[in-house]
This record gives sequence, C-alpha cells and structure tokens, in this order.
Amino acid sequence: MSKTSLPALLGTCALALAAGAATAQEQVVNLYSARHYSTDEALYNDFTKATGIKINRVDADDAGILARLKAEGTASPADVILLVDAARLYKGEMEGLFKPIQSKLLNDAIPAHLRSQPAADGGIAWYGLSTRARVIVYNKAKVQKDDVDTYEELGDPKNKGKLCIRSGSHPYNLSLFGAVTEHLGEQKAQAWLQGMVDNLARPPKGGDTDQIKAVAAGECDIAVTNSYYLARMMRSNKPEDTAVVNKVGVVFPNQQSWGTHMNIAGGAVARHAKHPENAIKFLEYLASAQAQNYFANGNNEWPAAQGVTTDNPALKAMAGGKPFKSETIPISAVGANTVKVQQMLDRVGFK
Ligand code: FE
Repeated sequence: MSKTSLPALLGTCALALAAGAATAQEQVVNLYSARHYSTDEALYNDFTKATGIKINRVDADDAGILARLKAEGTASPADVILLVDAARLYKGEMEGLFKPIQSKLLNDAIPAHLRSQPAADGGIAWYGLSTRARVIVYNKAKVQKDDVDTYEELGDPKNKGKLCIRSGSHPYNLSLFGAVTEHLGEQKAQAWLQGMVDNLARPPKGGDTDQIKAVAAGECDIAVTNSYYLARMMRSNKPEDTAVVNKVGVVFPNQQSWGTHMNIAGGAVARHAKHPENAIKFLEYLASAQAQNYFANGNNEWPAAQGVTTDNPALKAMAGGKPFKSETIPISAVGANTVKVQQMLDRVGFK
C-alpha cells in the first residue's frame, strides 16, 4: 500500500482549522482480502491516487476472513471484503456478514447472474468482479480431446485411472460440483462424483498447479484446474513451466451444452462497515474498465463487467483465439448447493 500522508497544505494549523476537522481527517477504507495475487497491489495504489482514500489491507483466505468477521461482530473494523469463490460469498451473505448495497453503477456493470439475489429492497450483498473458468487439462500424447470435452466424461469409465484433482471439499471444486448438481440434478450428480472417485489416478492432494504438473509428469492423464493457474504457467519464462505447458492440452468443457463453469472472485461491503461510502466507492472502482484490466492482465482472469474485453495473450491462446460458451446459471445457486454437495462427497468417499 502506498503511504499516503495528509496533503502538505494542511500542514499549517491555521489552514487545517479553517478547513474544518472533517477535511483534515484521513479518508480510509479497511479491506479484508482473500485475493492472493501480488499483482493487485498496483490496482489498490491507483485507487488511492484517484480518490485520496487510503487502503488498510488484511490478508487471509476466504474461510479465515469469514471466521474473523464473525468473531469481531459489531466491533469489526472491516469495510470491504474480497473473496475468491462464489460459494464462500454466498456463505458470507447467509451468515449476515455483508451489508446489501444500492449501486446503480455496479448493477449496470455486473451481469445479474454474477451477483447475489437481490434483497427485498433491491440491495445486493455481493458482486462478482472477475471470472475464472474451471477447465480440463490432459496429456496430449495419451488422451483424445473428444474424451474429455465435457465435465460428465470425468466420471466416465473410459477414463478409469486417469484423473488428478485437488480435494473435493476445496471451494473451487465445491462450486463446480454445485453447478453440475444444478444442471444434472442430485441423483445424476452423485453418480458422476462416484465415477470421478473411481477414475482417480491418485488420492486428491495439492493445489490446481500440482494437478497440471502431475499430468505433464505422467502421474495422471487428465486434471481439473482454474484457468488462471494454467495461464500463469503459459506466461512464465521458466523452462520447466514451458515444458509442462507444451505437454498438456486444455478444454473448455461443455461447449455443446450448458457451457464452461465460471467461478468468480468478488466483493461485498461488511455488515458493520464504519466507512460504507468508501467501501462502495472501492467496489465501484473495481468494476471500472481500468481495474477490470488489472484483473485480466495481472491475475489472468476475465473481466466480470459487461463490455470490458481483455487482450491477455494467455487467455486468448487458451481459448484457441475464439470466444467460448460460459455457464449462465445464477452463480448464487452454486452456493446454495454447497451443503448438498458436501453430503454427496461424504457418501461417495470423495476426499
Ligand atoms: Fe486460487
């Protein structure tokens, strides 16, 4: 964060007094962020430059932030919350940790399916601010693209012994499985989860990047990852990353049906925000074309705001240089399925 000092002209008491105490008070917004991407730093600095509002940031993961908000209660200094998963945003909303807001700017910018369902007064508890696709990668030498171009095929017996995936209970997977449950219904979704368990090359472990590497290393032939982890490797200058990327193919699943599952990173105003107006200003800034491009280029995510496009070379290359079909079910439905999905995972022994 930039260390913003009070404007020099307020240095003299006379001027400060003349301007009034409120003017002399530093404008701040207290941010709790789960965005674990160093590239966001420049974005925050630009916000401070443009508005004079200083950002105090606390970093933790999604679960840590929700727990902290709960523990702090009304005393919480948090004004604005950034989380990196739809199910977790939904959970925060359900636990009453967010303050629904009215913002025409955000309502115009962010498509309805990428934000919470409106409250009775039209208030919105959270907004998606960037999107990431949950894609399938495969060993080009061993797997035909046609055999992995749908999520359903991850659980097909033809792919027995080939699959690597991180823990089923990780939010990225809970959200994907919640979306598939929405599309297939619970019965078929559970059979699909059972199929994936039967197809595992090894017990779930590691993060998404580990799954991509495991495919390149021959430990498995098929894996599931968020698009930005693959894009990061595609843009890396390290020879070992390039070697991995050269071995794997990528699929945007379900192009012939409901479209590729898109998760979101998003933001909300904290229930007990002491600076709610600054918090709204910050969220509105994140929906601006400039900020949306930071997400696209810095962390290789797609803009959530309508009409903002990205020329990120890795994202373009990954999608084969053409547009792809994204899922359009309300992302809030994914969060609503989380408990159901966790129960199914327990029943089929998906660790
Ligand atoms: Fe991540």
